[in-house]
Amino acid sequence: MAELSCDVVIIGGGIIGTSIAFHLARAGHRDVVVVDREINPGMGSTSKAAGGIRAQFGSDINVQLSKLSIELFESFERDVGVSVPFHQVGYLWIATRPEEIPLFRRNVELQRRRDLDVRFLEPAEVGQIAPYVRLEDVLAGTFHARDGYASPADYLTGYHRAGTALGVRYLMQCEITGVLARRGEVAGVRTSRGEIRAPRVVCAAGAYSGKIGEMIGIEIPVAPLRRQCFVTEPITEGLRHPIPMTVDYTSGVYLHSESGGILAGLADKNEPPSFNQNVDYAFIERIAELAMHRVPLLESATIKTGWAGLYEVTPDHHPILGELPELRGFYVAAGFSGHGVMHAPATGKLMAELLLSGRPSIDLHPLRWSRFREGNLNQETHVI
Ligand SMILES: Cc1cc2nc3c(=O)[nH]c(=O)nc-3n(C[C@H](O)[C@H](O)[C@H](O)COP(=O)(O)OP(=O)(O)OC[C@H]3O[C@@H](n4cnc5c(N)ncnc54)[C@H](O)[C@@H]3O)c2cc1C
Repeated sequence: MAELSCDVVIIGGGIIGTSIAFHLARAGHRDVVVVDREINPGMGSTSKAAGGIRAQFGSDINVQLSKLSIELFESFERDVGVSVPFHQVGYLWIATRPEEIPLFRRNVELQRRRDLDVRFLEPAEVGQIAPYVRLEDVLAGTFHARDGYASPADYLTGYHRAGTALGVRYLMQCEITGVLARRGEVAGVRTSRGEIRAPRVVCAAGAYSGKIGEMIGIEIPVAPLRRQCFVTEPITEGLRHPIPMTVDYTSGVYLHSESGGILAGLADKNEPPSFNQNVDYAFIERIAELAMHRVPLLESATIKTGWAGLYEVTPDHHPILGELPELRGFYVAAGFSGHGVMHAPATGKLMAELLLSGRPSIDLHPLRWSRFREGNLNQETHVI
């Protein structure tokens, strides 16, 4: 590769990197290069995601990111020029322990303050929305009809195609091996194919963002954690597809319709940080047990396929968005803690605004990198 220079280098062509690149180009800023070591964009965590999109979070900043993202998913065809089915069948959260009820009520209030029509549900109302759910142990629920799910790969393809058409350059099979810096300012990146000079670099490397941090000697606290899910063969009796994304808050198991069957997933809270993406079949069985407890008709279903991928988890389950104070021109957009697909549209728009004017339309102060140094973290409660 002959020596390259550009205005912005984005490390990582996942849903976050492609969204930032698209939003920069759409705002007229086209001198952008996205670098990814894979053969195609979107082969990292984005290709493993379940596609859930929701506004029901426990922190105001996450609710704001979701609200903006849902608006942008709804207008995706108009803005990006690609039609992607967004199944807005709602997210149903289920509580089975008395101590969860005050949290559910508090979060509904928080979300309603942002003009989201989220409802607190009594058990009978849960049964009306989700007749397939075992109700005996259900104490309460919450529901937001504009939540739902969609194909992460389709959104990514939209951002990639539209960004490329606007002039964004993608360098694939190109590994970032170092970051160039001089006197506290970034100067570009070193790659497996040569150097790229740039005054601004954005780290959108997903679960590998901590590794990029090591290259600049600054801790980017993003832990890679294996997460797994499976899809059943089609279920034609007893279920009217598509069902809402159904989350058992107590056990953590979540399910939604997928290809005529059910996709079910669960976070193993004991999973140590690592880049292991092998499927653990014993854990898939555990997911199946919990899914069958909540949705008994799954007892007669057959598992078609399962997979594992990486969450990119920060200590407070909020992303890091913004410039590093220690290295001018170096920005981070990572650590979405399993919510990177649903927060990608807002992240792309806000990071583009930050890079172009320094004034994003949502205050990103709560997501600054330095919060980990300052302590007093605001934990997100609605993580699955
Ligand atoms: C099982 C599972 C289910 C999930 N379900 C959901 C869900 O329902 N909803 C949701 O919103 N999110 C979900 N997620 C999380 C979601 O997948 C991530 O939050 C999101 O994909 C993060 O996007 P990203 O672009 O930051 O990372 P990635 O998609 O991982 O992209 C990062 C890119 O950086 C590249 N890269 C890294 N290091 C280098 C380097 N040194 N040089 C060059 N390239 C590099 C990688 O190749 C990769 O393509 C799920 C994740 C898993 C594993």
